[in-house]
Amino acid sequence: MLKWIDIVKFTNSGNPVPAEKVVKTNEEWQKLLTAEQFRITRLKGTERSYSSEMCSLFEPGKYACVCCGTLLFDAAEKFESGTGWPSFTQPVSENAIAYNKDVSHGMMRVETVCNTCDAHLGHVFPDGPKPGGLRYCMNAVALKKVESDERKATFGGGCFWCTEAVFTLLKGVSRVESGYSGGRIDNPTYREVCSGLTGHAEVIEVTYNPGEISYADLLRIHLSTHNPTTLNRQGADAGTQYRSSIFYRNDEEKAIAQNVIAEMQPFYEDTIVTEIVPFEHFYKAEEYHQDYYANNAQEGYCQAVIDPKLKKFKELFKSRLKDTQDTAITKHE
Ligand SMILES: [Zn+2]
Repeated sequence: MLKWIDIVKFTNSGNPVPAEKVVKTNEEWQKLLTAEQFRITRLKGTERSYSSEMCSLFEPGKYACVCCGTLLFDAAEKFESGTGWPSFTQPVSENAIAYNKDVSHGMMRVETVCNTCDAHLGHVFPDGPKPGGLRYCMNAVALKKVESDERKATFGGGCFWCTEAVFTLLKGVSRVESGYSGGRIDNPTYREVCSGLTGHAEVIEVTYNPGEISYADLLRIHLSTHNPTTLNRQGADAGTQYRSSIFYRNDEEKAIAQNVIAEMQPFYEDTIVTEIVPFEHFYKAEEYHQDYYANNAQEGYCQAVIDPKLKKFKELFKSRLKDTQDTAITKHE
């Protein structure tokens, strides 16, 4: 993960070596780009803030240089900065972007360019979100969204430390985040959710490739790895925030959820009480909740509650696990 100290070092002592270099004359670029793309990327222009829908786009996928197509950012690192320009906390790789000192407009700033073709992208600042603390403030015109096959699924099955640990191990799952859905207020804190007053459930948001694992299989695994028959309770954890839930994103997912529950019901003596509700928002939980099991495996709760769960899960779903368990449970870097 890049930090501000790395950016300063690149700016002062030279940039990382790119995988390849693309060199064209301005005349050649002019033929390939629109007038606005040319003005921003080749003449170091700046677009008007809030001039692009890309600011409020938070779907999975990647962002590439509009000039040369090199991948620069992953949507997972995109955040709402409130500036009116698309903002990211990390590039897709450490050598994707090069950094230059920019003293124009009487300010000392760090300009970011595509390391492959030197396209001007924007600037980077040290006031971004933790843990990296960087804010890549980009011109939307300099980027193009690369379509992705990835989908997101959101569901709750009690404490998100447990459910996150389970789904992180699955083949076809590229990312699991812990958070809150289904409540009445924006940006709830853990403390507020634990009070039970906000109506949120502890959930995980799973980013997956449907070519490798289907939505139905995710739900089958979800319903097999927690107890979907106990209302507002999961083991010793009691409260509406621990309710069993599936948040569907369209009618097709709703139908799949209903079918999977009907299919799983015979395996349980009691009635499945999992709620099937439309997805509205996912609020990512505080950073210390992310990768909780991977980071706190020695703790009492992890050993007493999560370890046995994972053991059972690994036996049940052996063929669906990622090949290397070690890489699967380490933090996303
Ligand atoms: Zn480029």
